[in-house]
Amino acid sequence: MNMINQMEEAEANILHTYNRFPVVFERGEGVYLYDTEGKKYLDFAAGIAVSALGYHYPGYDEALKDQIDKLLHISNLYYNQPIIEAGARLVMASRMNKVFFTNSGTEAIEGAIKAAKKYAFERDGHADHEVIAMNHSFHGRSIGALSVTGNAHYREPFEPLMGGVKFADFNDLESVKAQVTDKTCAIIAETVQGEGGIYPADKKFLEGLRRLCDEKDILLILDEIQCGMGRTGYYFAWQAYGVQPDIMTCAKALGCGVPVGAFVLNEKAASASLKPGDHGTTYGGNPFVCAAVNKVFSIFEQDMILAHVQELTPYLEEKLDGLAEQHDCVAARRGMGFMQGLVIKGRPVGEVVNKALEKGLLVISAGSDVLRIVPPLVITREHVDEMAAILDECLK
Ligand code: PLP
Repeated sequence: MNMINQMEEAEANILHTYNRFPVVFERGEGVYLYDTEGKKYLDFAAGIAVSALGYHYPGYDEALKDQIDKLLHISNLYYNQPIIEAGARLVMASRMNKVFFTNSGTEAIEGAIKAAKKYAFERDGHADHEVIAMNHSFHGRSIGALSVTGNAHYREPFEPLMGGVKFADFNDLESVKAQVTDKTCAIIAETVQGEGGIYPADKKFLEGLRRLCDEKDILLILDEIQCGMGRTGYYFAWQAYGVQPDIMTCAKALGCGVPVGAFVLNEKAASASLKPGDHGTTYGGNPFVCAAVNKVFSIFEQDMILAHVQELTPYLEEKLDGLAEQHDCVAARRGMGFMQGLVIKGRPVGEVVNKALEKGLLVISAGSDVLRIVPPLVITREHVDEMAAILDECLK
């Protein structure tokens, strides 16, 4: 079957919720993907910031295969060895207190919201609490996560969503303060807004949120699902700001390709929120996905992935700034580490993305006009050069 036939068969059977790019991928190697007709693509999308180690990173596949041979799943009614190690590793990397493993990012958000609501319920003895979320945020597609997603297009068809959510402007502390009431139990924000168009938080904004939450006994939830796990050169982007959340969510690169997420709580949030019976998951944190998490952390440590991102970031930024200077259609660059955006003006960003695909480069869009660059964290200078050369062609 050729690629056209394969795509037709997919469309015949798979619910059309994505306008997929016209390509069927078969395999990956390093930071390259190959389609079913053998064409090679440099991957600067990483499965939407998931495949931080690229494809077939030494040792990763073997760790998963070993775990398949031992044990895949037993439920959370019993302990298993990989979850014990994965919990300890995530606590160590975040210097937080307790972890709950989920199957996805959106479920991590659900859990974080429930933990914040339960914290306020325990404190106040009643349950009509509010959450403040940010305009242009993205937290996922399940009902709770959608309720705190600041994009009307995603939300409207599914109203009424979870009640008690108020929206404020990202990087505008006064607009957040204006939404605080004595019912507010949590403020939720991405440390670097991803889908909204790659907007890093201002340091003063994050510090202000932390102060506000401390003053009013509100829990600060930072969503690290896209910007976490090394993407900014730190395990978690908030570590670059020195501002710790009460609850953080992560997923995507946590397992580098297996479906795993987590919400992580500090001592204050963990000790006074979810108790046995309040929350659960059948698959979450099963031995298979936790074996992946453990291998990801040990590779990050052994191969100094964070240091590599920090070292290569100035070069990536220099190359992207060069493109912005050379091409009138690039209005600006913004981002942190390997989470970068080029603001495209005067032509649809989708046109650039499609051209890049034709020329063998995978990049994606964010918001309405941003070209998003979220490569595997293991790219080299040569890969940056190759990306810049292809984008240079596409932007002409
Ligand atoms: N939060 C952020 C910041 C995200 O970027 C995403 C996905 O893109 C999610 C939450 C939802 O994660 P998932 O698609 O794994 O449910």
